[in-house]
Amino acid sequence: MILLRADIERRERETLAPYAAKSADSRGRDFPESEDPFRTCFQRDRDRIIHSKSFRRLKGKTQVFVAHYGDHYRSRLAHSMEVAQLSRDMARALGLNEDLAETIALAHDLGHTPFGHAGQDALHECMAKHGLSFEHNEQSRRVVTLLEQKKPDYPGLNLSFEVLDGMMKHRESGEMSPLSGTFKPSLEAQLVDLSDKIAYLNHDIDDGIRARILSSESLDSLALWRQAKETVRADLSHSHFISAMISSLITLMAKDLMSNTDRLIRERKITTLDQVYKTQDSLVAFSDGVAGEVRLVKRFLYDRFYTSPGVMQYNNRGQEVIRFLFDELLKKPSLIPENFSVRGEEALIQVKDHIASMTDEYAMDLYDKLHWKAFSRSEI
Ligand code: MG
Repeated sequence: MILLRADIERRERETLAPYAAKSADSRGRDFPESEDPFRTCFQRDRDRIIHSKSFRRLKGKTQVFVAHYGDHYRSRLAHSMEVAQLSRDMARALGLNEDLAETIALAHDLGHTPFGHAGQDALHECMAKHGLSFEHNEQSRRVVTLLEQKKPDYPGLNLSFEVLDGMMKHRESGEMSPLSGTFKPSLEAQLVDLSDKIAYLNHDIDDGIRARILSSESLDSLALWRQAKETVRADLSHSHFISAMISSLITLMAKDLMSNTDRLIRERKITTLDQVYKTQDSLVAFSDGVAGEVRLVKRFLYDRFYTSPGVMQYNNRGQEVIRFLFDELLKKPSLIPENFSVRGEEALIQVKDHIASMTDEYAMDLYDKLHWKAFSRSEI
């Protein structure tokens, strides 16, 4: 048996929730293309993302630690895969379009800088000095609509409207998207936003414990951690115990998110995708109680992990590298590889695009090279 695209599209109509985004109803691409015989538009978009250079570079970008600190800490690639896994599983359970959710999840961090959030903050500060800004969601969109160059026919990857709209995360309540004229993106995109949060909170706890910056005992101050503990055997070895705790914590958050989302959809009497687009608040949300607990987990990680000396020393180093590269590349934009820069863009934007694209290692190597040159110049 071979399933054709039309068969998959029919299955979507038969099996997905009425408010799910159906691939056959996509608003389409900026540059019209003929359809693939086997894959839906969202499957095709996912494949374009996986085959892009920016996606491969995610493996060399830090999530919290500088990439080569240890073999088992999450890179941004591992993070994106975990977000995709959570998004797919919950999308399936909620009758939403798994392919769309997975595609948005895999693309959501493509514009992230090297050196994690510290890197993003440093690049933003550099841009702010020139009256501009840097934000990684905006940069992710820029990567897929402009910087990736796959075909001579168009810039970027020419993704479907629903994927691009879904990549504009963190849309505030009541703010209309200039792209779509809608208040909220699809439920699939809203789901990825929360999957991102579940993924990073949990893997950062895991990585924090692995690095011995966090301890299981200190986490006992969190109600959600204590609740997860009730389902985990106390006689396990340390590593089995931590694995079981992370798994239990993810389950707890995911279950609450799904049941509360289902409740919101029913309460608001949502039956079409158009209603989703026109709803001003998020329909994918934790219950109030768990949302409050999740905020406490985030606060805990911020205070005890992200700003701990063990993480800050790497963050500071990463920020120093970015500031130095920004100044050097701005002085000499010819150092930016020719196949990288977008023709006609001012130097400042080219420098921003280039630095955002770098892996941690590429940035550090270039820093060493340019720093040595600057140093030897001043010696002469
Ligand atoms: Mg993320």
